[in-house]
Amino acid sequence: MVETAPAMQVNGRENAWALAIAAETGIQVASCYQCLRCSNSCPVSTFMDIKPHQVVRLVQLGRREALLQASSIWVCLSCEMCSTYCPNEIDVAGLMNHLKNSVISSRRTPAEYEIAAFHDVFLRVLREHGRINDLQLMQRYRIKTLMHGQAPSVDDLMSEASLAWNLLKRGRLRFLPERSPAAGEIRRILEDYGHKKVST
Ligand code: SF4
Ligand code: SF4
Repeated sequence: MVETAPAMQVNGRENAWALAIAAETGIQVASCYQCLRCSNSCPVSTFMDIKPHQVVRLVQLGRREALLQASSIWVCLSCEMCSTYCPNEIDVAGLMNHLKNSVISSRRTPAEYEIAAFHDVFLRVLREHGRINDLQLMQRYRIKTLMHGQAPSVDDLMSEASLAWNLLKRGRLRFLPERSPAAGEIRRILEDYGHKKVST
């Protein structure tokens, strides 16, 4: 069991944001000593503008605006490698999720809108049917991004049509969504975790 470190002070004052995160999620960033194990274990850190260890550091310093505008939090795969390897048991993956939720709650436009829109539509389809229908997922995703002014490229459309054709040939493409027997339970789980809508 790792001991809780005292809250970090910035300019002689306790970092209220880090304290609020700790109160809401239980994630204590004060014990981070910047060993970089989280970033070194992250499979997508090379694609991030702010690496996982830097995210933790910026939370320590109370740099909320910089983090809510970062693309890293949307590039994160929620694979939890960082949390697993942290010697201080800091849930870096949970912190990334918390930052995503903060962006949505504050009705900002996510730095990586397409990724955020895909998350949102995926959870909506899952919530409605308890399982994913690929056709409905892609239709809704395309409508949502189009309403946001992001038209797909011809290459994207060709690639999606080719994927759909291959799924159809294998009998893996359902035109109408099927409801899972566990749909109610899945909906309850999503409600417990508070799925937040990404606005267009
Ligand atoms: S692995 Fe943990 S202690 Fe090391 S930099 Fe990342 S968050 Fe900090
Ligand atoms: S959860 Fe996110 S930040 Fe952590 S290792 Fe996975 S992709 Fe990287």
